[in-house]
Amino acid sequence: MSILALVVAAGSGTRAPGDRPKQYRLLGGEPVLRRTVRRLRACGDIAGVRVVIDPAHRAFYEEAVGDLGLPPPVSGGGSRRESVRAGLEALAAEAPRRVLVHDAVRPLVPPALCGRVIARLAAAEAVAPVLPVTDSLRRVEDGRIRGEMPRAGVCRVQTPQGFAFAAILDAHRRIDAPGATDDTAVALAAGMEVETVPGEEENIKLTLPEDFARAERILARERPRFRTGFGYDVHAVDPARPLVLCGVTIPDAPGLAGHSDADVGLHALTDALLGTVAAADIGSHFPPGDERWRNAASSRFLEHARDLVAAAGGRIEHVDLTLLCEAPRLAPHRRAMRTRIADLLGLPVEAVSVKATTSEGLGFVGRREGIAAWAVATVGFPGSAPDVR
Ligand code: MG
Repeated sequence: MSILALVVAAGSGTRAPGDRPKQYRLLGGEPVLRRTVRRLRACGDIAGVRVVIDPAHRAFYEEAVGDLGLPPPVSGGGSRRESVRAGLEALAAEAPRRVLVHDAVRPLVPPALCGRVIARLAAAEAVAPVLPVTDSLRRVEDGRIRGEMPRAGVCRVQTPQGFAFAAILDAHRRIDAPGATDDTAVALAAGMEVETVPGEEENIKLTLPEDFARAERILARERPRFRTGFGYDVHAVDPARPLVLCGVTIPDAPGLAGHSDADVGLHALTDALLGTVAAADIGSHFPPGDERWRNAASSRFLEHARDLVAAAGGRIEHVDLTLLCEAPRLAPHRRAMRTRIADLLGLPVEAVSVKATTSEGLGFVGRREGIAAWAVATVGFPGSAPDVR
């Protein structure tokens, strides 16, 4: 099923104070919009995410999500309804079968909730997550209760709301509902049937100043998830080249054959990092035949993997390498190797382990024909599931 997600981020957020609209403010150290986009992308069924913004906020947008590889943002209108309409018109060229419309200021949306909406959408033209109302409802004027409101049959409606794309686009084109606060209002006015699925209490909408503190508390309860990546590499000895291991040139030692600088340590470590985000291997990112990588410093491969981990919301906690090498002795270079890797990954040197051993004269390493390396990387994904594509 082809599903795109539309994130409505064009609001000016006049009810929450701050130097910028709330969808661009930091929550748990990350811009609200960025967290929202990452969570939607963590739902495997969503093929792409497009954001509708106020063009006046373009600089905030670029700062928040400019590195996530999203398609260009859509310019929104003066109201939520106009913004959604503009977003749907922009998606029309891609002709998705289904669309999810989500508020940018619901950054804690659980990927499982997206999954529920999408699952129901397979047999419905419109789906909204809802929550029961448990408090009594009263009409209040001037601080005084003036009357009762029946609670029976009433619920709270959240986003993401899912729709058959052609039907909701047609509804937005035909129906004039300037005051619509969500898209079920437009769908209902167009005669669509709107099904419901259970919503999530933690999928709060950041509206009032205290909502940010509440969202921070929810985030703090979410334990980071950890992933471990593993990498292995081997290179043959080439005495004509300098020996570069873990970004450090070792003097007076035979080097290694390879298309790049043949840094077997950084290659294994690059694969370990790629493994934490299931992003294939070093050879598929940097094909060995590519002239651009001839004699290249392998630090650029490691930096690429580091950036992919960061884009997925990961934080590298620790890396551990073992080099298998008959000669030269590597212990005198251990500190320099750890420092170089720590610099490249933005880690304290204490979080970088480099070990070396010989193979007791056995095998190709023992015959001094090659050097092998193994690496393990531990990456935490704070506050959400990994955004792994
Ligand atoms: Mg290699």
